Amino acid sequence: MILITRLPEPAILAEKKDTWLQSYLKKRAKKPNQRPPSNQYGHREIRETLESMSFHKCFYCERKLIETKGEVDHYIEVTEEPALAFEWKNLYLSCPDCNRRKLSNATIPVSDCLDPCDQSVTHADHLTFDSEYIRPKAGSTKGPKTIQKYKLDRPELNYLRLKHLQRFHELLLKIRDRQIRDGRKTLTNSEKESLVCFKEADYTFSLMFRVYLSGIEV
Ligand SMILES: [Zn+2]
Repeated sequence: MILITRLPEPAILAEKKDTWLQSYLKKRAKKPNQRPPSNQYGHREIRETLESMSFHKCFYCERKLIETKGEVDHYIEVTEEPALAFEWKNLYLSCPDCNRRKLSNATIPVSDCLDPCDQSVTHADHLTFDSEYIRPKAGSTKGPKTIQKYKLDRPELNYLRLKHLQRFHELLLKIRDRQIRDGRKTLTNSEKESLVCFKEADYTFSLMFRVYLSGIEV
């Protein structure tokens, strides 16, 4: 999870949200379990705006949404706050796994967790990594709850993080070989650039690489 900067509300939402909400609330009054129509809150224009905000990554686990399509997620669940069903600031982008596996607000409220859209938070102050395994930072209360709520320690994410870490380590080894060959300890500009790519916001699991690269001068 890294910080996501929200883009302006998509035109379709600004135009339709009041009508959509009224219609949904009416149906819900008759059928309390009624879900809002996903073709409305998950409209292509809304999904694409969220994808641009996160560089096509899940807001929670930072997995790239290329082969797997992202799903528009209600940050505060509609069962809790139906009035937020079409509220732009309540719409997040999630991979199907995070969306389905996340624990309900009743079990772990979002207020106890890190919010990827909270501009006042530095996520690396709460989450760290031990090889491919995500860990809460010592002293953080939101770190452990965030890992639990979104199951960020699930095996398939560990596996994917490991794959990306292997690429990173291969690059580090190549750089080390070149340094030995050239008899230098410093990094060339192109070596620095190739390492910095891993921690850029558009890279998969960039928080993990921010943590690892914070120990290397790049
Ligand atoms: Zn995810």
